[in-house]
Amino acid sequence: MQDKISLVKLADEARKNSYCPYSGMSVGAALVTDEGEIFLGVNIENASFPCGICAERSALAAAVSAGKRRFSAIAVSGGRMGEAPTGFTPCGACRQALSELCPADMPVLVARGEGFDEYTLSSLLPYSFDKSRLD
Ligand SMILES: [Zn+2]
Repeated sequence: MQDKISLVKLADEARKNSYCPYSGMSVGAALVTDEGEIFLGVNIENASFPCGICAERSALAAAVSAGKRRFSAIAVSGGRMGEAPTGFTPCGACRQALSELCPADMPVLVARGEGFDEYTLSSLLPYSFDKSRLD
């Protein structure tokens, strides 16, 4: 896998493409497949607020649309547009969306200043709802 700080920098660079005219908070994500391919995503806001989508789910949608189903890491960078990232962890909806296809021990790297905080998906979403509940 690409080194972690490089992945965090990719997520941070993606923030430039964020569409966030309402909140001014730009978020970028870089999702890595188990083959090492990287899919970027950004938050896309909408005048009808609930229609917006987060960077993490945007990256997941791009990857799944390209036929990818197995992932090994995600980096997220968020903060006020044009400023350093301030430790935006994925929201609850994104944690749940990622848990559908990503391993529980997958690293979630969250940009903060020049560095990053590291979590696992299961540390951010313990007791997740999964397909076994539908049996
Ligand atoms: Zn989210």
